[in-house]
Amino acid sequence: MIFYVGLGGNLGEREKILRRAIECVKKIPTVKLLRVSSFYETEPWGVTNQPKFLNAAIKISTELEPLNLLDELQRIESELGRIRREHWGARTIDLDILLADHEISCERLTVPHKFLFERDFALVPLKEIFPSLECKFHGDEILRVKSSLVDFGLKLVACVDKNFGIGFNGKLLFRIPADLKNFRALTFGNTIIFGRKTLATFPNQQPLDGRRNILLSHTPQKISGAEVVGNIEKLFDVLNVAEKNFVVGGAQVFDELIPYATEIFLTVVDAEVQADSFFPSVDEFILRDVKACNGFEFRRYTR
Ligand code: ATP
Ligand code: MG
Ligand code: MG
Repeated sequence: MIFYVGLGGNLGEREKILRRAIECVKKIPTVKLLRVSSFYETEPWGVTNQPKFLNAAIKISTELEPLNLLDELQRIESELGRIRREHWGARTIDLDILLADHEISCERLTVPHKFLFERDFALVPLKEIFPSLECKFHGDEILRVKSSLVDFGLKLVACVDKNFGIGFNGKLLFRIPADLKNFRALTFGNTIIFGRKTLATFPNQQPLDGRRNILLSHTPQKISGAEVVGNIEKLFDVLNVAEKNFVVGGAQVFDELIPYATEIFLTVVDAEVQADSFFPSVDEFILRDVKACNGFEFRRYTR
């Protein structure tokens, strides 16, 4: 089942809390995070003498029943320090189910959310990730803030076979000179983000020259020529929105970061090869260009 969840808060470090809340939702069992919106600064609604809010929306799929999803969202609200004082009052985080692929009406849950179509602070982020949604805005003051997870403009780069396989037994499936040249041209002078197994596929198992190297690894370690970060939140703390940030593998890192990506460069080889690691689904992206070469093609996808 597909759900759209609205997030908002106006206490504490709003950006950090929104980013953390999104990572928490991603960790709910069976939840797949499909898309995230930008962050928007909005005027308080209902009770107006309180700080401005930061709002966002996300799209998820899950096998959970709607009420179990609501339980999980409320657990995250309290873990992130939400205290319910007055209705519509200031809060660290509010997680509301805005919309689903079906209507829900019971004592604890109404979907679509009962005020969704009256609130620009919910509609504007929702419309960003659900462009075909039919709705009218009310002219409220909504300012897009450049600090959301999509503002890092993560770009995923991989070389895959017809089945989207990327590796087997810790090795890449392909080493095609034209693809390696393309990889270098894309990433040189920019930032690359990778996991430990991908580092092991680099020449001499060393960071790549001429690029800022960031290793995403739960194990603290020192690697000359690379910065090591322990989790996704820390990654976003060290990334710079003004740099070009390329995610170069492996499968687990792609899985973790594809919801935040804005562009994908895939070299698709016209072959079927045995693989044990795969590139994630690109269903949430649009194929923009294809350049056919001899035996493979370069594809570029965006949102
Ligand atoms: P509002 O619902 O107007 O946005 P709020 O989000 O501040 O106000 P909460 O205190 O977070 O209100 O939630 C109050 C109750 O609303 C929850 O306990 C929940 O059972 C109920 N509720 C009904 N529909 C929804 C929904 N679509 N998403 C989240 N909570 C809902
Ligand atoms: Mg709410
Ligand atoms: Mg709520």
